[in-house]
Amino acid sequence: MAPWLHAEDAVIEQPDFGSLELGIHGEFLEDPSGTLKIESLHRASQPWEPLGSAHLNARFSSGSLWLRASLINQSDDRLSTVLDSGSALADYMDIHVVRNDETTETVLSGDRRPFHDRPINTRTVTLPLDLKPGERVTVYMRQSNYDGLHETLTPTLWAAETYDAELQKDGLVFGFLYGTLGALLLYNLFLAFSTRQRGFVRYALLVACILGWSFIFRGYAFQYLWPDAPDLNNQMLAIFALAGHAAFGLFAIEYMNIRRLAPRWMYLANCIPVLLNTLLILFPLLGFYAVSFASWFLVGALTQITVAATGIRLIKRGSRPAAYFMLAFGALGAGIAIYYLHLAGWLEANLLTQYGIQVGASLQVLLLSLGLADQMNTLRADKLKAEQAARAAQLALNSKLTEEVKRRTLELEELNQKLRELSITDELTGCFNRRHFNQVFEEELTHHLRQALPLAFCIIDIDNFKAYNDALGHPAGDQVLQRVVRCLQENLKRRQDRLFRLGGEEFGVLLHMDQPVEKAVPFIEQLRRAIADLGLPHPGNPDGVVTASFGLVLRRPGSAITTSEDIYARADSLLYHAKSEGRNRVVYAIE
Ligand code: GH3
Ligand code: MG
Ligand code: MG
Repeated sequence: MAPWLHAEDAVIEQPDFGSLELGIHGEFLEDPSGTLKIESLHRASQPWEPLGSAHLNARFSSGSLWLRASLINQSDDRLSTVLDSGSALADYMDIHVVRNDETTETVLSGDRRPFHDRPINTRTVTLPLDLKPGERVTVYMRQSNYDGLHETLTPTLWAAETYDAELQKDGLVFGFLYGTLGALLLYNLFLAFSTRQRGFVRYALLVACILGWSFIFRGYAFQYLWPDAPDLNNQMLAIFALAGHAAFGLFAIEYMNIRRLAPRWMYLANCIPVLLNTLLILFPLLGFYAVSFASWFLVGALTQITVAATGIRLIKRGSRPAAYFMLAFGALGAGIAIYYLHLAGWLEANLLTQYGIQVGASLQVLLLSLGLADQMNTLRADKLKAEQAARAAQLALNSKLTEEVKRRTLELEELNQKLRELSITDELTGCFNRRHFNQVFEEELTHHLRQALPLAFCIIDIDNFKAYNDALGHPAGDQVLQRVVRCLQENLKRRQDRLFRLGGEEFGVLLHMDQPVEKAVPFIEQLRRAIADLGLPHPGNPDGVVTASFGLVLRRPGSAITTSEDIYARADSLLYHAKSEGRNRVVYAIE
């Protein structure tokens, strides 16, 4: 072993060594005043401490941080390597290479200096380093900052070929992530424009912030978008970070329908962090980077706590969107939390802590897409259900309407029937009235004439009825009329036989006859007897009871009397005869 080989040296034994994490072999020195220079440092004895880790973790400090590592090429080849600070965000990053106590190479870079100062066009600060066989070099890295925040460093020595391969892999991984986020952004912008729904607008805003923030955070924005504007780069990082939290809160409110489903105070508690995040954008705009970063950390945590508390409450109430939201943002939240803890120095820097946000963001995108699909399905199912319900309601209404119309029609028909009956009924006695007689008599006659049928018509008149009224009063007379009608109706058994009140105490009877017509005489005689047999006392009548006289016309087919007027007049004159012959009798004529 060569005498100048130190115990802590990073030893390269073969040309294809891949990569070496210099932190493990390195030493670390904090310079609170930030005034130490490389010349004084690598000669004077300073209180260097072994770092013992691949990463120099992020911290708040106003001084500068030094890291040094020695490496030795023990292979027989001349090696082409790349020295990588592993940070895209360090404000001022100086790298010095010391060979044989001489500073041979120096890079002054960092994202507070124009991008063109870098010897290699990469998003992290790098330096090409040639190592002769057997050569030993010491590398010094100095990180100082603009206003207090030191970024995480992961100093690595790469074999040049491995580094090229690593760059390609890096490009592929981030290309995939940005491609996914970019497609999602365009898709949601399209949906936002076409549907004009607030949810899509806010989601597009959120995705834009995540995409923009990640692009700046990883150093790509500085490399490709604004290489000559280091201050803008720092401002934009904080602006996107704060806007991202505001968009997160806004989207949460919309996606979980917090305004409608959560209590009012909870809705307001969700609005406050959104407002604070938006106001805090003033800090980076005014150039206070560390303050904006610290406040982003605090208000961001507040945003996530309120959203999470609201989400849990809504899940308990059975909200599916809240479940999807919490799952999705739980993934992103875990990524962000891991990253915060790593920034705060509580977690070691490693692949997961450094890429936590990217992993979380990808998961979140995936889960939210599922959530959106689920929401669409729910909406479609709800719409279908509503349509079915509307159809069922329409049908029920229709059948109810039909029922109602049927019922009303029936009622109307009944009413009509009643009206018809009323219009042909005599109010006092309930038999047919004069109007009906006028109609029916004419019709019947026509029918009988056409069919050559016999017809019997008789007029009945109560005897001395004026005297009855005079003696016993009009109401008693009315009762007599009713009794007489009931009596006549009881005796008129054939359906076609009809009784009419022709006026006053005068009635008409129309009989359907079989041959010979004379057969009607005993039947009418029976009616006359039936009235007298009622035995209604009539003081003014010679018989002492109510009686009636009958004028009966029996018309044979082919008779000379053919008009209703003639038949009526004939019956009337026969009645007159019955009266004049002493009343309470039937006088008939066969025509
Ligand atoms: P005659 O034997 O000649 O028929 O004598 P009459 O008194 O019955 O005949 P008249 O035509 O002179 O009188 C008819 C009476 O019938 C007059 C009226 O007092 C009575 N009358 C007519 N319509 C009604 C009625 O609706 N109710 C009552 N109570 N009496 C009536
Ligand atoms: Mg009369
Ligand atoms: Mg009379």
